[in-house]
Amino acid sequence: MSELNVVAISNAKLPDDPFVARHLIDGAWKDSAEGETFERVSPSHGTVVTRAAQGNGADVDAAISAARKAYDAGAWRATTGKDRATLLLKVADLIDRERDRIALLETLESGKPISQARAEIEGAADIWRFAASLARTIHGESHNTLGNDFLGVVLKEPVGVVSIITPWNFPFLIVSQKLPFALAAGCTAVIKPSEMTPATTVILGELLIEAGCPAGVVNIVLGYGDPVGIAMTTDKRVDMVTFTGSTAVGKGIVKAASETLKKVSLELGGKNPQVLFPDADLDSAIDAIVFGVYFNAGECCNSGSRIIVHEDIAEEVVSRTVALSRDVPFGDPLDPSTKVGAIITPDHQKKIDTYVQQAANHGGDIRLGGAALDVPGLKGQFYQPTVISNVTGEMPIARDEVFGPVLSVLTFKTLDEAIALVNDADYGLSAGVWSENVHTCLEFARRAQAGTVWTNTWMDGFAELPFGGLKESGQGRELGKYGLDEFLEAKTVTMRIGKTRSPWVA
Ligand code: NDP
Repeated sequence: MSELNVVAISNAKLPDDPFVARHLIDGAWKDSAEGETFERVSPSHGTVVTRAAQGNGADVDAAISAARKAYDAGAWRATTGKDRATLLLKVADLIDRERDRIALLETLESGKPISQARAEIEGAADIWRFAASLARTIHGESHNTLGNDFLGVVLKEPVGVVSIITPWNFPFLIVSQKLPFALAAGCTAVIKPSEMTPATTVILGELLIEAGCPAGVVNIVLGYGDPVGIAMTTDKRVDMVTFTGSTAVGKGIVKAASETLKKVSLELGGKNPQVLFPDADLDSAIDAIVFGVYFNAGECCNSGSRIIVHEDIAEEVVSRTVALSRDVPFGDPLDPSTKVGAIITPDHQKKIDTYVQQAANHGGDIRLGGAALDVPGLKGQFYQPTVISNVTGEMPIARDEVFGPVLSVLTFKTLDEAIALVNDADYGLSAGVWSENVHTCLEFARRAQAGTVWTNTWMDGFAELPFGGLKESGQGRELGKYGLDEFLEAKTVTMRIGKTRSPWVA
């Protein structure tokens, strides 16, 4: 593998003991009612990183009861925007204080590079600060044009008890795209992190307690989708579910939540295209392609896993992408120079490889990679940077979320053809266009079916800008002021002024 930039095991010190994770229920740390636990083994180092309580029906029941009681008692709902903002700002400061501790556990549980984990934790603190700024802006409307006899007021109220279910790929960031907005709105919450990455959500619970969050306002139950996630989406005491994860589980959650007509917000998968026109700045575009597909080892809903390139520049783009891919440092996530770490589980690695071999058997041309990667000194699973050209729109690798460091390259001749390929997808999360012509970029932005369009960039995100998907990529929005609106309901108050009402019964 000398042709790739492989980072061998570093001399970074691993923790002496596993992190011990318990449920947070009504302000107290609890073992599981049935005493069960599970372990998370690091996908990069093969050591036990976390030993966690494994939740069951009784644990979820207690957590939902606590969240319901806290909401109904009004301890949080009745606080001022100023008080909510103060708490969220304190949490942001504590996240900054604990950045390195959180980042290390995030890296060891998920296999992502430590430099990226640190950046993610900093980004999360920024989101808590942004949500704090929104907490003081919540207001409704007044209607003073209903005639002399009426004044109408629309109040914005919290949705109520929210179930927050998160995945393993960005555990701390994703809970931070949901929880501070729910708290800013006045909701209470029950959170279930992925069983593969529970530690950092538990640390967030510690920080919330330290910041003064009242008991029962935020509860955490650890364990598996079945039974913990299922109970969180079916219990009638829960008013809303916000979920990030696979489209298949997202569809199941919509069905489960429909029995009690809960509000559901979903951030699901993507098969995100970047389209390159012949006038593109290829130096920037090729760097962005490499970043887009290998960031987080491709285990990213925003992965730029589909490149749609004009046929006049296709060969140049592919060969330059292959050359740059060889320079990307893949290997030990604890080495600060590493940009791509381990794959989350052996099963997931197999799934990635199956897509790649299937593409090769159906005419795809593997220009780089296409196999597991040996990282000297490490026990986990890694996958080589992989570039596949000659991919056509109907191949599974062009349509499904592979969730690995694998790039598919398709070609086009006209803008209409490029747009047709972009929109010929079940997903509609993100799309990108590379052209020096502003008219091409704007036409693309208008016609691409995606919740986010990037022009001449990829994956830049801001707490101020909403994020979410069309089609099977989800429903609802996170971040921005839209991210707060998800957790608010409108209540209409119609007031008659004076004794002006004529009797219905004479
Ligand atoms: P899942 O969608 O299976 O899981 C996400 C979260 O939902 C986890 O906390 C999981 O619990 C929980 N969950 C699972 N089943 C249920 C259920 N029936 N009711 C309520 N909650 C449930 O994602 P995975 O982690 O298994 O990843 C599988 C695939 O999903 C990936 O290969 C990738 O394609 C995609 N994915 C997409 C993400 C995105 O950001 N769009 C993020 C992560 C994954 P637990 O796993 O602990 O049992």
